[in-house]
Amino acid sequence: MMSEQQCDSLFHGRTAVLATQHRKEQVIAPLLQELGVQVVVPTIDTDQFGTFTRDIKRPGNQLSAARLKAEAALQLTGADLALASEGSFGMHPAIPFLPYSRELVVLIDRAHDLEIVGEALSTETNFSHIQVTRLEEAHTFAQQVGFPAHGLVVMAAPAAAPADILKGITAAADLTAAVIQMLDQFGQAHLETDMRAMHNPTRMKVIAQATENLIQKIRSCCPHCGCPGLDAVEQETGLPCAWCGSPTHLTLATRYACKKCSFQQRVLFPHRQEKADPAQCNYCNP
Ligand SMILES: [Zn+2]
Ligand SMILES: [Zn+2]
Repeated sequence: MMSEQQCDSLFHGRTAVLATQHRKEQVIAPLLQELGVQVVVPTIDTDQFGTFTRDIKRPGNQLSAARLKAEAALQLTGADLALASEGSFGMHPAIPFLPYSRELVVLIDRAHDLEIVGEALSTETNFSHIQVTRLEEAHTFAQQVGFPAHGLVVMAAPAAAPADILKGITAAADLTAAVIQMLDQFGQAHLETDMRAMHNPTRMKVIAQATENLIQKIRSCCPHCGCPGLDAVEQETGLPCAWCGSPTHLTLATRYACKKCSFQQRVLFPHRQEKADPAQCNYCNP
């Protein structure tokens, strides 16, 4: 079995290109230093791969968008190690009206033919929007979403054309001017939180969490081939109820798999809990 150091040493002393125009290096670079990796940002137009303000449609799913950015950075620079991140925002799948974000940070290593993906899910997001017909409503909304530390985007209506979207608003006077312009012209204004990382410190924090998850995965080595990135691929439900022993929907075991070789591992009680709270049981607490 290879030790942790042996497995993450694949990256020590190397330089990774990070495809970002939104200053994500501020949180990603210091964390990657833990692995001895220096992060550099090439000049690259990542907006061509889709933006949050919908002016360019995002191709494929979130992971393929991150992959595309990393691959473009590799191609552009000739480097063999790249990083890219991609976020998505919406409503929580299980809890109504709770905003929710998912950040991915992908590492692609051409030298060892590896792809490792860090992930963070968080309900800590200011992702929100509002339609207003009065200036005061706009400023109230701004206060609720952490303006001016968090930027805002203003347009006439959700379906506004790219050229008519005012992005990166971070000053009260600019917000007032933008909203008045829309109200005068269209009688209404549509405001959205600016989800670009440099205008959204809350999002930056979740990107940092996804980077920490990536580092954790890099340090998780396959006991068979020593390759980094041993990953949880399946959660098996059925943790027994503490009272009656019936299987619940809580996780009983996690299955890990190596992307390089066929090694697989089933780990029981991944949350260090061998019995489920009877409140989670269909029989004891219907
Ligand atoms: Zn392996
Ligand atoms: Zn029970």
